[in-house]
Amino acid sequence: MEESTGKPRKIELNDGTYMPLLGLGTWKPEGISPGMCQRAAEAAIAAGYRHIDTAYSYRNEVELGKAIESKMKQGIIRRQDMFIVSKLWCTHHAPEDIPICLNRSLNDLQLDYLDLYLVHFPVGLKKMGDELFPEKDGKVLTSDIDYVDVWKGMEALKNSGKVKSIGVSNFSINQLERLLTVAKIPPAVNQVEIHPYLVQTDLIDYCKSKNIALTAYSPFGSPGRPAQYQREDTDPMKLLEDPVVGDVAKKHRRTPAQVLLRYHIQQGIAVIPKSTKPHHILENTKIFDFTLDEEDMKALNSLNRDWKACIITQLESHPFYPFK
Ligand code: NAP
Repeated sequence: MEESTGKPRKIELNDGTYMPLLGLGTWKPEGISPGMCQRAAEAAIAAGYRHIDTAYSYRNEVELGKAIESKMKQGIIRRQDMFIVSKLWCTHHAPEDIPICLNRSLNDLQLDYLDLYLVHFPVGLKKMGDELFPEKDGKVLTSDIDYVDVWKGMEALKNSGKVKSIGVSNFSINQLERLLTVAKIPPAVNQVEIHPYLVQTDLIDYCKSKNIALTAYSPFGSPGRPAQYQREDTDPMKLLEDPVVGDVAKKHRRTPAQVLLRYHIQQGIAVIPKSTKPHHILENTKIFDFTLDEEDMKALNSLNRDWKACIITQLESHPFYPFK
C-alpha cells in the first residue's frame, strides 16, 4: 500500500510524528452485531491498514483491542506499526474527567498509549453516569465548559506520554483561531466531515495555513448512519450513486468508493472509510496507484452543496456548536 512513486502513504504532523493517510472508520452504533468490529479490524490489518479510528462514544474499543492484540500475537504487526486514534467524549470535558476518559479507552483497547487523541466535539455535555447524551425532560443536558480549557487538559495528556499527538474534531475556523491564541501545543489534526457534497475549501485552506493536518470522515456521505441523522426531505442522493462520481470511476476503471477516497489522498488529507465487509475493506485500499486529473477534481468539487451527513441537531443552540 505505497504510492506508485514509492513514497510512503503517510503525512507528517506538526509535532514530527506521521499519520497513515488511510485508516479504518469504526463508527456505527446501530446494526453492529457482537464481534463485527473485531472482525472488521482484523480484516483491515490483514489488508494492510495501519490506522484505526475509534472513540470512547463508539463503544467498540474492547473489540478493537482484541483485534489489535490477536494480530500482534500472530506477528503481523507490532504496536509501533499501528496508528490508533480515539476521542474524548463531550461528557468528559471537566479537567478531572479528561484523564478518566482516556484511561477507559486505553484500558478497553489494551494499550498503554494512543497515537492521536482528539476532542470529539467542541460542545460539552453534563456527566450523568455512563450516558452519552444525558437528557432531562427530552432535552440534552449541555455544559458550559469552554473547549479552550479542555485543550489545557489535552496538553497535560500529551505531556504525560499517554498520547503521542493531540488534536480536535468538528472544530470550525473561528474555534481553531481562538484555540491557537492560547494553545501551548497546537492541535496536530482537525478531523471533520469532507466529501464532494461538502468540500470545505475554506477550512482546508485555513488548516493548511496553520500546519494542522486534516482527516476526512464520512467520505461516502455516511450512507449507513443512524436514522436520527437522516433527513429524507433534504438529503441528496447517495454520494456513492452520484452519476458524476460514477463517470470519473468509469474513466479510471475504478469503483466510486475508490474515487471518493482518492479525492482526499490527492489533497494530502487522511481518510477513514468505515466498512465491516472484507471485500469493501480491501477495495478501499486500492487508491494509491492512480491519479485524478484536474478535470476530475473540478467535476467532483462541482458537486458541492454544503450538505452535512453528521449534524447533532439537539446541540444546535449551544454557543459552541460548530456548524452554524
Ligand atoms: P462512511 O465511511 O462515509 O460510509 C460508511 C458506509 O459505506 C458503510 O455503510 C459501508 O458499508 C459503506 N462502504 C464502505 N466501503 C464501501 C465500498 N467500497 N463500496 C460501497 N459501500 C461501502 O461513513 P462513516 O462511518 O460516517 O464515516 C467514516 C468514519 O469516520 C466513521 O466510521 C468514524 O470512524 C469517523 N467519523 C467521525 C466523526 C467525528 O465526529 N469525528 C463523525 C462521523 C464519522 P459496509 O460496512 O457494508 O461496507
